Amino acid sequence: MQNNNMNSYMNSNFVQIRFKCGHVENIDISRTKLKPVLIRKMEHDYCTACWNKLEDQKYAVGYNLERMFYGRYKEEFPDCHMRHGSYNPVDRTVEVYVPI
Ligand SMILES: [Zn+2]
Repeated sequence: MQNNNMNSYMNSNFVQIRFKCGHVENIDISRTKLKPVLIRKMEHDYCTACWNKLEDQKYAVGYNLERMFYGRYKEEFPDCHMRHGSYNPVDRTVEVYVPI
């Protein structure tokens, strides 16, 4: 177990991506096998902050933003929209726009 953790740390692979909104983010792409494809896709997308701003506007009325376990989201709120980039691998939670 200890070894695995060490390996994933050693392999962590951050790249700087400039998004179409002009913002730059350091993205860890060590866990994907489709690196060039993923990078190209991201460059034609908004950064996390801009995505969140757009989505917060879209879901501003009639929704509550709630942080919950990913498992609960899948089970109880499968039709709700998960906030872009909100997955936290440490406690396995996501932010979900839940209709009021
Ligand atoms: Zn941006």
